[in-house]
This record gives sequence, C-alpha cells and structure tokens, in this order.
Amino acid sequence: MRGHIATLMVHTSPLDQAGSGDAGGMNIYVVESAIKMAAAGVDVDIYTRSTDPYLPKIVEIAPGVTVRHIEAGPFKGLSKEELPSQIGALTHGVMEIFNTLPKNFYKVLHSHYWISGQLGWMLSERTNIPLVHTMHTMARVKNLNMAEGDNPEPATRAIGEEQIVKNAAALIANTDSEAASLVSLYDACPDNVFVVAPGVDLQRFTVGKGKAEARKKLNIAADAQVITFVGRIQPHKGPEVLVRALSEMLAHSPQLRPKLALVIIGGASGAGAAEPERLKGLAKFLGVEEVIHFMPPIERNELPDWYRASDLVCVPSYSESFGLVALEAQACGTPVIATAVGGLRSAVADGISGSLVDGHDPRAWAAVIARLLADPARRVALSFGAITHASNFGWESTARRTLDVYDWVLSRGEESAIKLVK
Ligand code: UDP
Repeated sequence: MRGHIATLMVHTSPLDQAGSGDAGGMNIYVVESAIKMAAAGVDVDIYTRSTDPYLPKIVEIAPGVTVRHIEAGPFKGLSKEELPSQIGALTHGVMEIFNTLPKNFYKVLHSHYWISGQLGWMLSERTNIPLVHTMHTMARVKNLNMAEGDNPEPATRAIGEEQIVKNAAALIANTDSEAASLVSLYDACPDNVFVVAPGVDLQRFTVGKGKAEARKKLNIAADAQVITFVGRIQPHKGPEVLVRALSEMLAHSPQLRPKLALVIIGGASGAGAAEPERLKGLAKFLGVEEVIHFMPPIERNELPDWYRASDLVCVPSYSESFGLVALEAQACGTPVIATAVGGLRSAVADGISGSLVDGHDPRAWAAVIARLLADPARRVALSFGAITHASNFGWESTARRTLDVYDWVLSRGEESAIKLVK
C-alpha cells in the first residue's frame, strides 16, 4: 500500500526516554517500524496524548513520521491506569484532527496497547477505517506469570482487551506464543492474527570496536565480570532475581567479590516508584550493595557500549511479549540469559546465543551465570551465535510484514464492498 496510516499510542509518547515510566520497548517498536514504513512509501502519523502545554501540536521526528499531540484531560498527574476515563476526550481530540484532513486520508488505524485499542475501536466505527491492533502485553498473560507480591492486572483491562480482539480487523502478535495466547485466552479468530517479529537497529547495535574499547570508554576494569540488566525497574522485569542470584554466587564463591559487578540500568515505572529504593535496600540487607550499580535510564546512542562492555546481559522477566533488550545485546555480541517465557523464547536461541532459564529461583540463575562467567571460550561461541541470531531481526522486515497485514485488511474491505455491490 501507499499513503498514510494513523498510529495510536496514547499513554506514552515516542518522544519519551525509554527505560522508565511508561516508556519502553513499545515506544521503540512504534518509532522504528514507522521510520521503515515511511521509507517504503507509507507515511505514519503517531497520535499521542499531550502531557505538556508547551509541546508543539505536530512534531516531525523523521521523514514521513509525525507525532500529533492530542489534548485530552489534564496535562500532568493522569496515570496510565486512569487514562481509560479519557477515551471520550481522546476520541474527540483525534476526530477534530481527522475532520481537517481530506476524506479517506488514512487507509488504516493501527493501535498499540489496549487503551489505544479502545480508542481505535471507537474511531474505526466512526470513520470506517479498518483497525489493526497490537497488544504488546496482555492482562491475562501477565496475571498467569506474576512476580511474588506484584499486583494483578484488573479484570477491566482484560475485558477491554477482549472487546478489541472482537472488533479489530486484524491483530498483530510479536511471536507465535503471543498469537496462541490471543486465541486461547481471548478467543481471537486465528485467521485474523498475524505474527510480525520486532526488530533491532542493526546499524546502531553492533560489536563496534569490541568489549575492551567499550570498557575503556565507560571506565570499567578490563578484568571485571560484568552482568547487566537494562529496563524498567519493576517487579515484573525481575531485577530482584539478579540481586538475589548475585548474593547466592558470592555466598558460594566469595573470591568472586572483588571483580563481580551487576549493573542495573533503568528507572522506576508506573505504580512502582519505590521499587529502585526497595531493591537497593534488599542489596544492602543481603550484603551485596557494593557490587550492584544502579544507573539512570540511558540514551539509545550510549546503550551499545554498555551492552558491549558486559560479559552477560540478563533478562529475568516474568512475562515478555518479546524483549528488545535481549536482541539489542545480542546484536552487540553479548550473550543473553533470559527466562524461558513468552517472546524471550524467540528472542534468545537457547544454547546458541545465550541461555534460557526456567523460573526465577535465584539459585538456578546464580548457577547459570556463574557457569558462563567461568567459561570464556563458551561465551565467545555464544557471542558469535548472538550476532548471527540478532542479524535475523531487522526493522525493515517488521515494517514490510506490517504493511502486508495492512494490505490484507484493505483487500478484505474491498471484498466486502464487492459483495455489497453484487
Ligand atoms: N531502553 C533505553 N534506555 C534505558 C533502558 C531501556 O533506551 O535506559 C530501551 C531499550 O533499549 C529497549 C527498550 O527500552 O529498546 C525496552 O524494551 P523491552 O522490549 O526490553 O522491554 P519493555 O520496555 O517493552 O518491557
């Protein structure tokens, strides 16, 4: 297809720094695939809610990719959980813009995350523009895989997701496993579910000048043993597993202490504002605070050096629709240890580019981490495997396959029009 599409991502902006608050993999996904779709001739307008009165209404972030800020509700102080109360105002705000555009300007609406899916459903009914939806995460999947002490997602979210599944023309899942969950937990029709793998920016995330050079730049000792976590600091992402695993490792092998470092990069998210402090308290309680280094969220252009400088990147999430961090680290030549759940089973090739661990027992994680740290030859082999594995995922292919879904949706529209004419 050619022309314009409207992307709806209202609870977080493409302009936000990923890795804290509500901004993460989905923000990267939306922007990177939009850039590639625009390069293929389909311009993308990303609609998001304005959280600052001084933001311009329209911001072009790349050729053919524009962010449009909608005024709906208060600029500040509205949490993601409260945002469903503003669906009416958001619909109004988007419709006001649509009304200034030529008829049939947008060929497709593509919503991301369930709140935008609800908005997309209303807009699609009003405008007859077909709706494609990507969940990114789902309440029922999250609730089946909860971290201890974490709060379950409310039933209202699961109901909202079910309604979108029923009303979208097509659903895009990151992996076969997510597609299966849409069918089994949300009763999606398998014919309407498409699997489109996310990607990694293979120009930015590279081995560069290698580990030694990256360590020099970041002032990390050449002989340090560095394990890195990158992502929002929330129970669901499992950073606590790593803090406890390190404590297990040091209890078992105290001689590791002078060289071992766990770097935790990212900020607090959502209701868990106190989570970083809680983790620091836990590290102190376990007597490992001096080996754990908390870093604020890092700009994307600085992340590759952190991945390169690490011996291992760990992704101990409780569920993950994909896990972009795992791909980014591998593209930089760093093996990844991840939980064997959801999309991480596709993002990491077990035994080839890293290791998949069942569950979240810190002793199991400690054993896998310690074994790999003690075996540099194996890490080199996994590093080669990581680069090869990541090279299979580019955003061009994500964009191309997404455009195929749009074409499918549009061709179905034409079919039903022909039926009506007959
Ligand atoms: N990220 C970042 N800076 C940080 C931490 C994370 O730019 O300090 C980015 C990271 O590179 C990745 C995204 O945030 O692209 C996190 O995506 P992922 O799929 O791993 O997790 P999600 O946020 O979707 O749960």
